[in-house]
Amino acid sequence: MAEVSIVRCNDYSEDNVRTALAEALEAIGGLDMIKPGMKVGIKVNLVTGAKPEKAVTTHPVMVCELIKMLTERGAEVVVGDSPGGLYNAAVLNGVYSVSGLKPVEKCGGKLNQDFSEKKAQFPEAKVLKEFEYTSWLDNVDVIINFAKLKTHGMMGMSAAAKNMFGAIPGIVKPEYHFRFPDYDRFAAMIVDLDEYFKPVLSIVDAVVGMEGNGPTMGIPREIGCVIASASPHKADLVCARVLGLTADRLPILTDAIERGLCPDSMEKLDIYGDPLEFYISDFNNIAHQKSIVFNGKGIFRTVIFNIIQWAVRSRPKLKKDECVGCRVCENICPAKAIKMVKGKAKIDRSTCISCFCCQEFCPKGAMKVKRPFVAKILDKKT
Ligand code: SF4
Ligand code: SF4
Repeated sequence: MAEVSIVRCNDYSEDNVRTALAEALEAIGGLDMIKPGMKVGIKVNLVTGAKPEKAVTTHPVMVCELIKMLTERGAEVVVGDSPGGLYNAAVLNGVYSVSGLKPVEKCGGKLNQDFSEKKAQFPEAKVLKEFEYTSWLDNVDVIINFAKLKTHGMMGMSAAAKNMFGAIPGIVKPEYHFRFPDYDRFAAMIVDLDEYFKPVLSIVDAVVGMEGNGPTMGIPREIGCVIASASPHKADLVCARVLGLTADRLPILTDAIERGLCPDSMEKLDIYGDPLEFYISDFNNIAHQKSIVFNGKGIFRTVIFNIIQWAVRSRPKLKKDECVGCRVCENICPAKAIKMVKGKAKIDRSTCISCFCCQEFCPKGAMKVKRPFVAKILDKKT
C-alpha cells in the first residue's frame, strides 16, 4: 500500500474523475474505513464563492463523485467549509451556489447548514492551545480533507494541510493572522489544526490548479492529476514537487517535517504514480525565501537577523489602476494597516504584517505579492 498516490485526470468529466479518484484511493488502501451508517464530513476548499472554472474551489464534479463512492458504502455525507467573511446561512448558501456545489444534494450528499461555533482546548498543540472552530466538523465521524492545489500569498502553496484553516470561522480568521503574524508560527498553527482534526484522508484536486496571484485571483493552470494520502503533509510534499517547490520554501511543510510528520524528501515516500510526469517547470509560484542562516551572537545577531528578514520579506503591493475602492481590504486587514486615500487603498508599511489577507480577498485582484529585490537576488543564488 502506497503512502501517497498521484493519478492522471485530464478533465472534470464524471467518468474520468470517478476512474482517477477510484485508482488514487485504491492505491493508498481504499475506503474500507468507511462503514455503513457512518457520517462523513468532506471539508472542501471554499475560500470564497467562485465559479468552478476559476480554479479557486474544489471542483464540484470531484466532490460529487467522492460522495457517490461514500454513499455506495452506506455513509451519510455532509460537505462544508468556512470561507472568509461572515459564517451564516445567507453567505454560505450564496457561496455554495456560485461555486457550483448545489448538485451535491442530487449526488446524495448534504451541504452543511450548521453555522454554530465552538471553542477547543488543545494542550498538546505547538502553538494553537486554544481556538474557535466550526462545529459541523464535530458532528461527523470522520473528516475527508478535499483541497485544491494553488499558489498562496502567505504560505507559498495552498494544498492539503493549509485547507484545514477553513475550520476556523471566516469572521475570526484575520484575528488568527494577527495572533500568528510570524510565518513559522502561522504555519505551526496550521499543522496544529491538522493534528487536532486528523482527517482520515486528504485528497488534492490538481486537475486544474491555480498559479500566479493565488489563492483566489490567480490564473487557472492545467496540471492533470489527483493526489491522495492519509497524511496531508505527505500529499503536500508531492504537490510541492509537481509545482517545482522545495519544502524549505513552504513553512507548513517545514514545520511538519520538523515534527516528524513527513519525511524531508519525496524520495523517502512510497508513491503510487510518478510525480515527475506532472511536474510543471514554468509554474508561476509565489515562493518564500529559504531560511537564512546567520552566524553571530547576542543582541547583534538578533538585530542583523531581523533586518535581513525584513529586507527579504514579501509584501502586498497595490496596482492602483485595478483598485475600485471597495474597502474589502480595509475591512479585512487584521493589522488595520489599510486606509482609503482618494478612493484607493493605501498600506501603512510600518504596521503591515504581510499576512496577505488583502491580496487573498481583493475582489479585483488589485493586490499583488511583491518579492523585494534582495530576495530575488538571494533566490537566484540559493
Ligand atoms: S479590496 Fe482591492 S479593489 Fe477593493 S479597495 Fe482594496 S485593493 Fe482596492
Ligand atoms: S495590509 Fe494586507 S498584508 Fe498587510 S496586514 Fe493588512 S491585510 Fe495583511
